[in-house]
Amino acid sequence: MRILIVEDELKMASYLRKGLMEASFRVDTAFDGKEGLFLALQEDYDLIVLDVMLPELDGLAVLRRLRAQKRTPVLLLTARDTVEDKVVGLESGADDYLAKPFAYAEFLARIRALLRRPLQSVDTVLAVGDMEIDLLRRRVRRGAARIELTAQEFALLKLLAERQGEVLTRAFVTSQVWDMNFDSDTNVVDVAIKRLRAKIDNPFEKKLLHTVRGMGYVMEERA
Ligand code: CA
Repeated sequence: MRILIVEDELKMASYLRKGLMEASFRVDTAFDGKEGLFLALQEDYDLIVLDVMLPELDGLAVLRRLRAQKRTPVLLLTARDTVEDKVVGLESGADDYLAKPFAYAEFLARIRALLRRPLQSVDTVLAVGDMEIDLLRRRVRRGAARIELTAQEFALLKLLAERQGEVLTRAFVTSQVWDMNFDSDTNVVDVAIKRLRAKIDNPFEKKLLHTVRGMGYVMEERA
């Protein structure tokens, strides 16, 4: 398995490279966006680890240009961790996202998960019942109706749709969408779910977002 690391911080690049080589990957490194894009297009990597803040060409620009030609899985690294950044990253075609600082074990786990994913499941359109969620264009429709969502509503919908059929607890949703861990005030999730529901479910006969009393929420098509 060949991995390309595009990271301008030399210490970080060599740390990641060393770790991946110990895990038996073949690793190339590029230290700016232009070089990274060149290698990514020129060579056939199984995965690319791409930092967002890069000289010459930033990571998101690299990603957009890469996506115009290739589907190589990309794990995006960034210093910031906000819903907006995640959405922008995923919109640009990243397959996963890791905010710095991160534990090396988590980095390796994400890489392994991405490599296990069959290419067709890196699909950019998720479907639940008659709802289609286009992750690249950030468009949602149910049947012929286009649904407009805020960035946060979209992040919430994406999480639920990616794990359709699974009951997600409020605490889990909070940690994934808001990057917070709190057990006491999970009301924020209920409020967000209510807003999302008003857009994706209320106008339609068939409901896709269900409350599981005492547990959380699940998205699925029910007969
Ligand atoms: Ca950087």
